[in-house]
Amino acid sequence: MNTKEKDLKYIMHTYGRYDVALKSGKGVYAYDENGKKYLDVSSGIGVNCLGYCDDGWVEAVSKQAATIQHMSNYFYSEQPSTLAQRLCNLTGLSKVCFGNSGAEANECAIKIARKYSFDKYGDSRNEIITLKNSFHGRTVTTLSATGQDVFHNFFFPFTHGFTYVEADSLDKFKAAVSEKTCAVMLELIQGEGGVNILDKDYVQSLVKYCNENDILVIIDEVQTGVGRTGKLFAFENYGILPDLMTVAKGLGGGLPIGLCMCGEKLKDVMSPSTHGTTFGANPVVCAGANYVLDRVCADGFMDEVNKKGEYFEKKLSELDDVKSVRRMGLMIGVELKSGDAHDIAVKCVENGLLIITAKDLLRMLPPLVISYDEIDEAVKILDKTLKENN
Ligand SMILES: *Cc1c(COP(=O)(O)O)cnc(C)c1O
Repeated sequence: MNTKEKDLKYIMHTYGRYDVALKSGKGVYAYDENGKKYLDVSSGIGVNCLGYCDDGWVEAVSKQAATIQHMSNYFYSEQPSTLAQRLCNLTGLSKVCFGNSGAEANECAIKIARKYSFDKYGDSRNEIITLKNSFHGRTVTTLSATGQDVFHNFFFPFTHGFTYVEADSLDKFKAAVSEKTCAVMLELIQGEGGVNILDKDYVQSLVKYCNENDILVIIDEVQTGVGRTGKLFAFENYGILPDLMTVAKGLGGGLPIGLCMCGEKLKDVMSPSTHGTTFGANPVVCAGANYVLDRVCADGFMDEVNKKGEYFEKKLSELDDVKSVRRMGLMIGVELKSGDAHDIAVKCVENGLLIITAKDLLRMLPPLVISYDEIDEAVKILDKTLKENN
């Protein structure tokens, strides 16, 4: 059996896959089992922020794998401690709790928010407001937190205690707040929901209102974090500081990591045995993440992300079939004048461009190290594909 046949027979069909088996990669390019080359402007899904198999990253990860590959969380360990210290110094937040994925990071944030409120106000103040069109993960609780009805099916009963409000209206948010509200959780740019960039005034006024009412602000930076939006974290673009922040996708440079960070007010909420993970804080993964931070935080790196983002947007806007471009840094949504975004994405892949969708938009989360020439090449393949489709 070939790869596809084995997959179809032995792996549960939770994904509709593109008809390609990827085998290797270098930089922004991936290669399939037949040796065909693809330019990847999706980075997995915003994961390979330094592209495929970056030399320095491979070295950092390999070196750690050959030193010590795992120890349980009952021991101190240098790589996660250093990573946590750096993240705190870089953000102004105070502490980190490790996990392995975005959904797990969000579960952790939800637990911390509820425990803070339980400790201070008792067990009935436990509700969390999230935004319509949001996406927070695939566990039963993070599906509950996700403000899209399509995700609230099959797996009943879902976790109680979530209320959903439309984005960008402080009045609607205030109307949803009750004496039971303990937190709000939101993405500053709704990634899966269609690259919806939240309004800055809305976010600032919401955070101010929440701070005044001891409602915790949880920012889900799973997709927007680690340089994606032209700042290390998207909250910096909004001039706010969350009480809790979750990070995952880009942080490991390709290895699974998720973590939740909290500010000063929450730093002692969790105590031994309130949370745990067997694999979280893995030293190999954290060595990869430390290397990612070395690169992303280097002088001038973020300026380049912003410049490349502007260039990408300009080039895309010039295409005949593009209606509009939504973008912050190198997080890009492309609204088409006509045609089904998913069909177009499938045809782009056939033409050698790995691209994803978000609702009815094409979505690009290119490696942050993509060059101007590679951006030109991506736009050229997209243009060709759109023209073939009309
Ligand atoms: C991808 C994503 C998640 C879920 O992350 P997993 O690692 O797949 O569990 C949560 N929130 C946002 C905003 C995401 O983009």
